[in-house]
Amino acid sequence: MPDEPLNLGFEETSAVFESATQNARVWTEQWAAAWLFCPNCGSERLGRFPGNSRVADFFCESCAEEYELKSSKSRFGAKVVDGAFGSMCERLAASNNPSLVLMNYDLARFGVTDLFFIPKQFFVREIIQERKPLAATARRAGWVGCNILLGDIPQAGKVFLVRDRISAPKALVMEQWRSTLFLKNAAVTARGWLIEVMKCVELVGRSDFTLDDVYAQEGRLRRLYPNNRNVRPKIRQQLQVLRDHGYLEFIGRGRYRVRAAA
Ligand SMILES: [Zn+2]
Repeated sequence: MPDEPLNLGFEETSAVFESATQNARVWTEQWAAAWLFCPNCGSERLGRFPGNSRVADFFCESCAEEYELKSSKSRFGAKVVDGAFGSMCERLAASNNPSLVLMNYDLARFGVTDLFFIPKQFFVREIIQERKPLAATARRAGWVGCNILLGDIPQAGKVFLVRDRISAPKALVMEQWRSTLFLKNAAVTARGWLIEVMKCVELVGRSDFTLDDVYAQEGRLRRLYPNNRNVRPKIRQQLQVLRDHGYLEFIGRGRYRVRAAA
């Protein structure tokens, strides 16, 4: 498929708002509406949900995948602040839970610098952190927000379309997107384990590894699942599932290899 580099520049429109952040929101949303394709089905453009009433901002008319756009002029760190903790938890199991689109932009260059998708199947309870309730003096006293723990999402769950102002070919983006769709078949609780074991494998830091390398990450899983007394069998079971779906291969003598594009 021929692949033109993506136009990363924002459209020159007069600043509508006093606040730079509000203007940036207009520019980034216009850009997404003009240039974002659907990584799930390849449809050329995304539709926009009207107003601010929805959790999601964009949707695909062909496959109905929904997307929430978050943009920032500084790079995203280990955590991204999101909305209410309660509604986020309810959303996790919903079939229309939006995938996340994280965009970094540069107003001096007036365009996109980095953009990646987090497919919705990576949203599990383990990567949602409950924040402290707002203080009694706050306008919404007692309200509880949440953070998305970006640092805990394995690289396979970060599908880059733009990195350092260079866009990836659409075919590659779609291939990476497809490589983890198998996670959707697992219930949300089972999916958490799979994603956490993917993260442990990543923390080993090599594509070839042994079972002992993954066991070395056991402490991380024990902290996440303090009531589970069978962490090692659980690790082996997840590795089997990841193997069955082509994410890993067993290369014999207790050795494994990661196959997925990451
Ligand atoms: Zn689509």
